[in-house]
Amino acid sequence: MCAKIEHHTNEITYESLLQGNKDWVAETLLEDPAYFDKLAAGQKPPILWIGCSDSRVPANQITNTNPGDIFVHRNIANVVVHTDMNLLSVLDYAVNILEVEHVIICGHYGCGGVEAALSNKQHGIIDNWLRNIKDTYRLHYHELDIISDHKKRVERLTELNVIEGVFNLTKSSIIQNRWSSGKKLGVHGWVYSLNSGLIKDLNVSCEANNHLGNVFKMDEPVIK
Ligand SMILES: [Zn+2]
Repeated sequence: MCAKIEHHTNEITYESLLQGNKDWVAETLLEDPAYFDKLAAGQKPPILWIGCSDSRVPANQITNTNPGDIFVHRNIANVVVHTDMNLLSVLDYAVNILEVEHVIICGHYGCGGVEAALSNKQHGIIDNWLRNIKDTYRLHYHELDIISDHKKRVERLTELNVIEGVFNLTKSSIIQNRWSSGKKLGVHGWVYSLNSGLIKDLNVSCEANNHLGNVFKMDEPVIK
């Protein structure tokens, strides 16, 4: 286990990735000669994962799942912004074409993006992206301002960023139309701990729009 981690942190090169790929294919075929034939036939993942780009939070490994099991979108600090065409396209495809049954936003403690959003330093163009997390702080400043321990405040903002992400997803027409069509779809918020490897369920799962303020609720689309 340690040797594997050491290998990955010290010896990763452009060439080693290609060699690693060859090794993986050989090992996989040894175990299941039909593995790639089966995967190539198509995908029907039941889960859409929205996570952080952080290299330490790979969706498949930390949930003990395999290629084909999870449709994945990642961005810095797993932010859900309703004008992000990349995220909306992934969400629409996952919900309406792949027909996933669960959408999970998974943040993580120790997130550099959340930490940066809490600071006053400039980090470049990413500051415009992280502004969304500062807006989440503004929504919850009464709770966050009184947390004196910096680490704990970052952790709580990490959780609130996920919770607001869940609410932002459920405010979208994509999710609400799916619900109004009678299809089952759960939206969930999780946080992963880099220290323990464990995932915490924030218990904000939604399967309907009844938690939303009236202004965010949408009528069914008019079909002409
Ligand atoms: Zn992160």
